[in-house]
Amino acid sequence: MVLHVLGWMQRASQAGYTHVLLNDSKFSRLATMDAHYFRNLNTVKQAASNLNLEIVPALFPVGYANDLLFNNPNLIEGLPVTNTLLVVSNGLASIQPDPPVSFPGGNFSNLNLWSWKDPNVVEDNGAARLTDPNGVNARIVQQLTVKPFRQYHISVQVKTTNFLTAPRVLILGNGLALNYNNLGVQPTQDWTTHHVVFNSLSNSTVSVYFGVWGGTTGSLWWDNATIEEVAFLNLMRRPGAPLRLETESGAPLVEGTDFAPLSDPLMGSVPYAGVYDIYHTPPQLHLLSAELTNGIRLRASWYHAVTVYDDQATICLSEPATLTLLLEQAQRMQAAWSTRGYFMSHDEIRVMNWCAACQDRHLDAGPLLADNVRTCASILRQVNPGGRIYVWSDMFDPNHNAHANYYLVRGDLTGSWLGLDNDLIIVPWDYDTRAASLQFFAGLGNRQVIAGYYDADPMLVTNWLNAARPYTGISGVIYTTWQSSYANLETFAQILANYPAPSLWRAPRLLASFTTGQTQLILEGERGHRYFIQQAYDLNQWTTWTNVTANDATLTFSTSPLTNRSQFFRAACAQ
Ligand SMILES: [Zn+2]
Repeated sequence: MVLHVLGWMQRASQAGYTHVLLNDSKFSRLATMDAHYFRNLNTVKQAASNLNLEIVPALFPVGYANDLLFNNPNLIEGLPVTNTLLVVSNGLASIQPDPPVSFPGGNFSNLNLWSWKDPNVVEDNGAARLTDPNGVNARIVQQLTVKPFRQYHISVQVKTTNFLTAPRVLILGNGLALNYNNLGVQPTQDWTTHHVVFNSLSNSTVSVYFGVWGGTTGSLWWDNATIEEVAFLNLMRRPGAPLRLETESGAPLVEGTDFAPLSDPLMGSVPYAGVYDIYHTPPQLHLLSAELTNGIRLRASWYHAVTVYDDQATICLSEPATLTLLLEQAQRMQAAWSTRGYFMSHDEIRVMNWCAACQDRHLDAGPLLADNVRTCASILRQVNPGGRIYVWSDMFDPNHNAHANYYLVRGDLTGSWLGLDNDLIIVPWDYDTRAASLQFFAGLGNRQVIAGYYDADPMLVTNWLNAARPYTGISGVIYTTWQSSYANLETFAQILANYPAPSLWRAPRLLASFTTGQTQLILEGERGHRYFIQQAYDLNQWTTWTNVTANDATLTFSTSPLTNRSQFFRAACAQ
């Protein structure tokens, strides 16, 4: 792998690239890496230095947090369950469905028992079959009465023959999806049982869809669908996700005294820490108190891990241990890399603001995320004073993901962008919203580096550049392949080199900073252009202070010690 990286870096340097955005799952568990790993890391570092490439390592993967959660799987953000009914039976507290729940037509021998179905879902030998949907939705649906904030498990058998579209079991509550995990059905498979788990959240009725949307060709059969309320599946244990057990009259039970310590050993741990499954047999609650005799009813409130798509886990943004983990990561990364800049991986954060640690802050999702990104930036400033900080755009962009009803985020992400200090470099990446996104972040006063390549036609980047023409602070473009496909590396660089950049992009921005007793002027401009800085004491008599050809997009100058006299600076691009 290192040889691949070195080869790509060699080509990138020759093609005129200046930076390398570098990510590795191991960046989240440097504490466990051996000397061999750090030797490889130093090989990459040395090669970059020889090639005059600046490495920008990625860290803080809070939205794709499995690698971080390797360190502590319980830090996953999860969903609350309240008042699960348990009944005492021979020393165990076993779940009692409350209310009972089932699919009346679950064995698919009579499709009329379902709430409704599309005409192309037909009965076939005691199963439901759909063949060649050809773009027409093919769904069979049951509406169910549930209790809010309970955990439900659905299982269903699926068989396919050359079925080219992924089927879904989709649970809708009040029009919003309650589950996002992929079923993992193969185009051709014999009868296979698939599992779905969802939390009813605030809903008292839900619609369960077994369906295919916009399918093409092939055949798919559904059979033997079941639903059950479950307890303690993927139970999380951490201070901000408390487990509470009480009698129905409200008398609290004490863990270790009234009931045995409870955990789910399979939560986030198979085949290794940080990997979460959808369903396994939940742990059982063993009672210790002799007073809890058969038939006594108990109520349990607790939190369970939840993932999106294929095991995408989000880390809780509020638990203090998360911040410790993020700080440690930044420290270890700085010790290993000592780069000038770091890339904060805040993107697609799809579960947020549910656990008690989050809810106790009484913040909407936007302010919660704003606080996290501000905290993360301050960690980087502390670990790497004066360094550059980059961050993906989507979670902070109202045109993209910063809005209400974003996956399993509780509340509205509006205002998340208020956490972006204006020295952060934003990396917009949504091609479809490029014009509005570029305008939005330019309006916030942030510099932007465009993620302009997404494994499609490299010429598309010119549409990004055209959209960026009206704005200052456009500092670069990234070849952002997500398929490890570097075939277009040189072509892409050539397109950029040939693009007639507007002079506006070379306009400098002058910042003053005061750190550790030193005043500094920071000139942000464009590499390879000539800038001059003037000074005045009265905003009237300007004299040249310095002029320089920028060998970098950021130039830092020390100024003379502060006096009680005002001193003004201004900068311009000469060419
Ligand atoms: Zn939380």
